[in-house]
Amino acid sequence: MFYKAIDSHCHLQAAAYAADLDIVLARMKNAGIAAIAVGTNYLSSRAAVELAERRADVWASVAVHPGHVWQPHHDQMELSSPPTEEMFDEEKFAPLLASPKVVAIGETGLDHYRLPEEESIRQIIKERQRKNFIIQIRAAKARNLPLILHVREAHAEALEILRDEKYFNGVMHCFTGTVSEAREALEHGFYISFTGAVTYPPKKGRAENPLWDVIRIIPQDRLLIETDAPYLTPVPYRGERNEPANVLITAEKIAEIRGEGYENILEISLNNAVRLFNLAARRKA
Ligand SMILES: [Zn+2]
Repeated sequence: MFYKAIDSHCHLQAAAYAADLDIVLARMKNAGIAAIAVGTNYLSSRAAVELAERRADVWASVAVHPGHVWQPHHDQMELSSPPTEEMFDEEKFAPLLASPKVVAIGETGLDHYRLPEEESIRQIIKERQRKNFIIQIRAAKARNLPLILHVREAHAEALEILRDEKYFNGVMHCFTGTVSEAREALEHGFYISFTGAVTYPPKKGRAENPLWDVIRIIPQDRLLIETDAPYLTPVPYRGERNEPANVLITAEKIAEIRGEGYENILEISLNNAVRLFNLAARRKA
């Protein structure tokens, strides 16, 4: 794989790049980076696959994100028109899953971070997220595809579902949990991926960003890097739109935190992405 790094999770197909995608892709290419474009609902998954099919340096992942199962808000960075409520429909996604460039199912999982106050509605949403997650785990398992997991404030619940389904193939994307949560995910066999959030300074009164302790305990063969672009832009570009080329900044920060060489972090995270997503075999015929 003749790339310097893989941005293992970004949204190149997002509305945020509608005006200048070619320029963003050129910067990515010049930086020596390849990327996995991750879908969040049917339309964004389809767009990710279309992009991957015309670029050798882009692969795709398809899914319905937990935020899309109930009254999804319209994030204009993500989608050009307002999304409708959606659950993963295997039949509808089947033509996308048939693409040789689709390397994972995700992002999928549970997100209990932004639920409404009302308890009865919270329960309905949690149940829908659970169902949506389970059907995607089963679809991934049937195809032996890894999962790209979005888990926010629902670590124990998500792991319980994965244990029930007996499927431990995938990555905890944009990891923001604790050291013990990371250990538990690692023990199950999951990879852990970090975004530009690793460059954010510690909160007032703290010596360190709590993620740094997590970064130090990840074994070399389980570490992935990502941008989650257009979101989570690393320092010093925080506040601007993010893009895959910035994944190098995250690698640099991780190298510093772990006291390892930058080149080593690039190499191990690249090898890990190639292995987890079977990238070498996933080319367009
Ligand atoms: Zn994402």
